[in-house]
Amino acid sequence: MFYSAYHSIDVVNGEGTRCTLFVSGCAHACKGCYNQSTWRVDAGHQFTQHLEDSIIADLNDTRIRRRGLSLSGGDPLHPANVSAVLQLVQRVKKECIGKDIWLWTGYQMSELTSEQAAIVELVDVLIDGKFEQALADPSLKWRGSANQIIHTLSKRL
Ligand code: SF4
Repeated sequence: MFYSAYHSIDVVNGEGTRCTLFVSGCAHACKGCYNQSTWRVDAGHQFTQHLEDSIIADLNDTRIRRRGLSLSGGDPLHPANVSAVLQLVQRVKKECIGKDIWLWTGYQMSELTSEQAAIVELVDVLIDGKFEQALADPSLKWRGSANQIIHTLSKRL
């Protein structure tokens, strides 16, 4: 997997202070997309074991308390990303007790493959659907257009 950016402290992508990873690779080609540089699956930098370990360490850092991990892109559920993203979310759930996971995808929840659904099983908040320029609204929280849905999947949130 490749990624375009990792922010170890982020307060704009989800509730609270978070770690945020923007992965590369998106097949949706939404008109008006702000992240076209992340469409190619090999754009940006290689996602390494070192970065995966750093994300886990950042989430467990008690000096700056993060509420959880946000996964955006690109599309974290792009077929080229599912293996690495599944490994990451499994580690977060196992090793970062009490941290939540937010994930943004252009796929709709109803159309996920079994591999994508295995990731979503471990996600607390899923924002799904393509960006629709005609439904764009800058006043919306956590999403760019009104067709996108915020699914709160975890009962503890
Ligand atoms: S899903 Fe997101 S990253 Fe992909 S094309 Fe649409 S707006 Fe851009």
